[in-house]
Amino acid sequence: MTTGATGAVGDRLLTVEEARDAVLAAIAGPTEPEIAYLSEARGRILAEDVMSLTALPPWDNSAMDGYAIRAGDVATATDADPVRLEVVGEVRAGSAPDRDVTRGTAIRIATGAPIPPRADAVVQVELTTPADAAGARIGERRRDAAGPLPAAVLVHEAVRAGTAIRKAGDDLPEAIAILAAGTRLGPAAIALAAGSGNESVSVHRRPRVGILATGDEVRAPGRPLGPAGIPDANGPGLAALAEEAGGHPMTLGIAADRLEDLRARLKAGLSGDLDMIVVSGGVSVGPYDVVRAAFAEVGRMELWRVAVQPGKPFAFGVADRPGGGRTLLFGLPGNPVSSFVTFELFVRPAIRRLAGLAPGRLVRAPDRAVLVEPASKSPGRRAFLRVVAERDEAGGPVRDAEGGRGQGSHVLSALALAEALAIVPETVDSLPAGAPVELWWLDRD
Ligand code: AMP
Ligand code: MG
Repeated sequence: MTTGATGAVGDRLLTVEEARDAVLAAIAGPTEPEIAYLSEARGRILAEDVMSLTALPPWDNSAMDGYAIRAGDVATATDADPVRLEVVGEVRAGSAPDRDVTRGTAIRIATGAPIPPRADAVVQVELTTPADAAGARIGERRRDAAGPLPAAVLVHEAVRAGTAIRKAGDDLPEAIAILAAGTRLGPAAIALAAGSGNESVSVHRRPRVGILATGDEVRAPGRPLGPAGIPDANGPGLAALAEEAGGHPMTLGIAADRLEDLRARLKAGLSGDLDMIVVSGGVSVGPYDVVRAAFAEVGRMELWRVAVQPGKPFAFGVADRPGGGRTLLFGLPGNPVSSFVTFELFVRPAIRRLAGLAPGRLVRAPDRAVLVEPASKSPGRRAFLRVVAERDEAGGPVRDAEGGRGQGSHVLSALALAEALAIVPETVDSLPAGAPVELWWLDRD
């Protein structure tokens, strides 16, 4: 596709897919691998398979608190006629057994402790009664195994060989791949990697994402607004989105609507080896919209203007860095809702790709819903409506969507409430209540 700096193909706007494909085509592949301690690896993407460094469990161990015995010794045991075994020792979790279980004996054992040699079953404490050396009961059946070690124990039920023994390697053999490259490390994956003996893993470096707000009217948090200022919503909002997408956000401040200021901040970002710079505002056709000119000066414009609502003036460029490598330049419209939607459509997939996710996992899995309220939109553009789901009594979403508080691209209050984006295709201008729509839940991958 050749789009030139204007982005229009012939005289039409780019489709969402054309623009996203062009963005992704500018990415050679994920960032380089680095080693991360598991304590810092949550949300990172594996660059290499993780191997099990130990079998799990590493040795046969007990699944119960009870007594390690030889099953043959208790084959005749019944409630009325229990079998007496001499208790010759104890093995606790974290200690190694120091003697064998010979015929007629038992070793008291805790859950997770290694099975002593020659024992072939564990009888749970609930099936035993502590006894003295002569076999007289000195406690109650089913009491816990916490008291002093009795001289003997009465076993009230026969158990089969293997009972309550977790065999070495049952859960996981040693030296197999337990997590594949490309996996995103959630809490369960981290527990698995740690539980199989890993201290650190090879993950892709988090992409460095520069965040730059623009606008003479935009004020940093806490600054007085004066007669014509507004607080910066996009800087903090886009930084949070970048982090959630798997990036490492870094602020480049707020640029004035002047080419020199913008150019200087972009150049600072390029010198800082950022993988991408996300600029908000200044990409439209106003007299002070200098972002595209600045992109062309520090690099080159790849595309501009997409058939999307909100977010039409989206711009994308690339720049070669002085220190080597390439930085993606995103120009998002300044309206906070437009910047949010275009981030979702074009920046998030790019961050996820750089962070190491496979090309098939970059955009959210679509769901289906039904509009509760009618929706209308600009012809020829794909609309992304900010919606909330109707809830049933249990709080679960009814498979419906409704149009919230108004869809203007400046309506930040509706954006904050939105749970999902409902997608209305280019081909329709309005949809009645009851119409089916495709839906992206914003809290689902
Ligand atoms: P622009 O894309 O620069 O024409 O800006 C479009 C609208 O978004 C204007 O109303 C701006 O004041 C507003 N806007 C631009 N940047 C921000 C920002 N960082 N935070 C909040 N609103 C902004
Ligand atoms: Mg502006």
